[in-house]
Amino acid sequence: MRRLRKAKIVATLGPASSDALTITALFEAGADVFRFNFSHGSHEDHRARYDIVRAIEKKMGRPIAILADLQGPKLRVGQFVDGCAMLVADQRFVLDQSDQPGDATRVGMPHPELFAVITPGQTLLLDDGKLRLAVEESDGNRIVTRVVVGGMLSNRKGVNVPDVIVPIPALTDKDRRDLDFALSLGVDWIALSFVQQVSDVLEARAIVGQRAGILSKIEKPAALKQLDDIIRASDAVMVARGDLGVELPAERVPREQKRILSLARKHGKPVVVATQMLESMIESPVPTRAEASDVATAIYDGADAVMLSAESASGNYPLASVSMMNRIIEEVESDPLHRTMLDAQQQPPLPTHADAICSALRDVIRIINAVASVSYTFSGHTALRAARERPSAPILCITPNLQTARKMALTWGVHATVIADVTSVEDMVSVAVAVTRQEGFGLPGQSITISAGMPFGEPGTTNLLRIATISDAIV
Ligand code: PGA
Ligand code: MN
Repeated sequence: MRRLRKAKIVATLGPASSDALTITALFEAGADVFRFNFSHGSHEDHRARYDIVRAIEKKMGRPIAILADLQGPKLRVGQFVDGCAMLVADQRFVLDQSDQPGDATRVGMPHPELFAVITPGQTLLLDDGKLRLAVEESDGNRIVTRVVVGGMLSNRKGVNVPDVIVPIPALTDKDRRDLDFALSLGVDWIALSFVQQVSDVLEARAIVGQRAGILSKIEKPAALKQLDDIIRASDAVMVARGDLGVELPAERVPREQKRILSLARKHGKPVVVATQMLESMIESPVPTRAEASDVATAIYDGADAVMLSAESASGNYPLASVSMMNRIIEEVESDPLHRTMLDAQQQPPLPTHADAICSALRDVIRIINAVASVSYTFSGHTALRAARERPSAPILCITPNLQTARKMALTWGVHATVIADVTSVEDMVSVAVAVTRQEGFGLPGQSITISAGMPFGEPGTTNLLRIATISDAIV
């Protein structure tokens, strides 16, 4: 089974997508990475989804990445008696420290830290800024507000307080529990929410080590100031436009999205564009034209992956959302302008052996019209540097390391396959040729490139580039 596109799809799992049939259908429709949102659901819910995804992976014979997204120091309202309540403009609404379920007049706010820093005159933004409350009184125990912009507020929706630094650690106690749990399950990626500075990433790295990749969600203005260092310290980043667009004016988001994409590409780190991509498909079987255009723009701009949140987790059309995203990506990638745009955003190689090989690789592929660019890699480094070049041929990552293969599901253009370890270059070449044929990337007589690092198994040693012709030999 192979995808006919380079950019990847991340689909969030939730109540609308938790049974084996639905998750299988999402995978078949195009989901490459499943995101578990630890802001919602119990550990048992996540464990059940984990087992289902791993069973699908086994059945389909394709590595699938699982991304555990930690809630981070995000403020959220508590629960409501009816699951939600309608907040009406000009009415009073109170946030308090009670754990009683809320209604249209009040709700609990399970973050004691907030009450100490809120003063009258401040604004609270709810549900990605859709609702707005003006603070009228705050006595350290209750925050009395006036609804400025009303609407439906449901359980555990986010609360942003622009301009106020709420003294909550980057990894909350809940995050630490969720992180331990996610690592014990064996997830491939950990997403850190509300990263503000490099030390937040390093704090998580001290716990995660190399057990999973660390993806930093860029959603705070402070992170934009240290973007370069945050990307360096992370294994991937996300343009988390939901919160970013609440903390910044909406009109700033597109240019920051483009800047994050370009810097991530420069560093050769996968970058995901997330939130509201097909938002109207939560309730409608077709997206707005603006949404189709938004997904397409991310692909033209060279994103590694685009993400679905509520569309696949709790909407009415999870499958249609994934299929739509898949079709938009395929359409964009068949447009010659897509190649022109990728080439225009090409970043100069670093003066390293890996980049010298991968930069040459791009030319070799074009000159001989190679059908696949095989990277033999243990850590994934060689495949990542190849992906940074956005070559025209798919990158076939062959690796003895299952976790590397799974992680690569997030990376542009990479199709990963687990192989038995190889011991010689000749061995590697014949495995590369065999895998290219088996996985449906090439036919006898066609050419492939093969890049790797010698000695085998040492990360960061990429120093070998071979060309091979697929032979007629039975594989
Ligand atoms: P969230 O992150 O959905 O976990 O809030 C994504 C975003 O803020 O865009
Ligand atoms: Mn967010």
